[in-house]
Amino acid sequence: MKHIQQRVLVTGGAGFIGSHICELLVAGGDDVICVDNLFTGSKTNIEKLLAAPNFELLRHDVTFPLYVEVDRIFNLACPASPYHYQHDPVQTVKTSVHGAINMLGLAKRTGSRILQASTSEVYGDPTQHPQREDYWGNVNPIGVRACYDEGKRCAETLFFDYHRQHQVDVRIARIFNTYGPRMHPNDGRVVSNFIVQALLGKPITIFGDGRQTRSFCYVDDLVDGLMRLMDRPGPLIGPFNLGNPIEFSIAELAEIVLELAASKSELVYRPLPSDDPIQRQPDIARAGAALDWAPEVELRQGLEKTIAYFDALLGELGSTAVDDLTVGA
Ligand code: NAD
Ligand code: UDP
Repeated sequence: MKHIQQRVLVTGGAGFIGSHICELLVAGGDDVICVDNLFTGSKTNIEKLLAAPNFELLRHDVTFPLYVEVDRIFNLACPASPYHYQHDPVQTVKTSVHGAINMLGLAKRTGSRILQASTSEVYGDPTQHPQREDYWGNVNPIGVRACYDEGKRCAETLFFDYHRQHQVDVRIARIFNTYGPRMHPNDGRVVSNFIVQALLGKPITIFGDGRQTRSFCYVDDLVDGLMRLMDRPGPLIGPFNLGNPIEFSIAELAEIVLELAASKSELVYRPLPSDDPIQRQPDIARAGAALDWAPEVELRQGLEKTIAYFDALLGELGSTAVDDLTVGA
């Protein structure tokens, strides 16, 4: 079947996940507008796309209104690493809340379908395990992570209200920890931290005792889920958990990274940041049934690809370009 070209807006398109989405859309022939204020994203992530006639980068902050004509919107703009989203928490709330209002207003005016990159953080430090979409979560509304968690929860509220009140075609993905090439070496999240530390022979910084768990999804699997969620005929509001359900402790992750990177880095223990969730594992039955989707890349496979990416990057940059890697400690 011939592909009908869509005009697609990707906010946060110069970031880690957004750049993979832009790449796929451009390759598929869509007309892509990437909107990004380059806070945690970079032009390097999309440099290969800049020459494409069906790709355009617009430096813009989504907390301000935007007037473009599009058919679809992937709303990903928001720093995702605790280190970065806590750097300017007021701006983080504005990005989630004002950004959602602006993008939903755009969707309403243009009649476009809009997908929200929500997060497992809406479950906070979950008391239900694994987390299903009907669980309402356990979030500290006044803690240091609240700017992100509550911002994303409010964005979900806005998405549902724009749907109920204005019939906007909305889709909500609750993304669980995703990793892969194009994470920033100084991003501060655990996978990129451990890999860069291991490759540079620096100490691996384990926060707390390392028994807290996360379930890590390789970026290709996640992007496949997001594309299915956007492409399927509606209504398909969700929310849908998207992530890999295989759970690992942070200490296990450190051991696997050390082994795969053939590194002799020592392990060092740092205080657990406040409100750091103890456990996290998605129940993906809903996405499996509605989208016929399941992640395929095992952690070791995904880590090998990610290690190869960082190895090449550090070779190009030189290790001195990667300064304080103990961010968040
Ligand atoms: P990222 O930090 O690499 O990408 C976020 C992008 O948004 C960056 O390019 C940044 O410059 C841009 N941005 C930030 N504030 C902006 C603003 N006000 N206006 C315009 N652009 C802005 O993070 P990522 O991992 O690619 O995450 C993308 C989205 O997915 C985020 O919304 C994040 O909350 C969500 N998410 C990611 C994960 C994950 O594990 N990677 C998990 C849950 C949710
Ligand atoms: N973490 C760690 N060392 C690091 C960075 C993170 O032990 O250098 C821990 C962090 O405390 C958390 C887990 O790894 O328990 C995942 O952290 P990340 O920032 O990647 O994501 P999130 O906490 O948002 O899931």
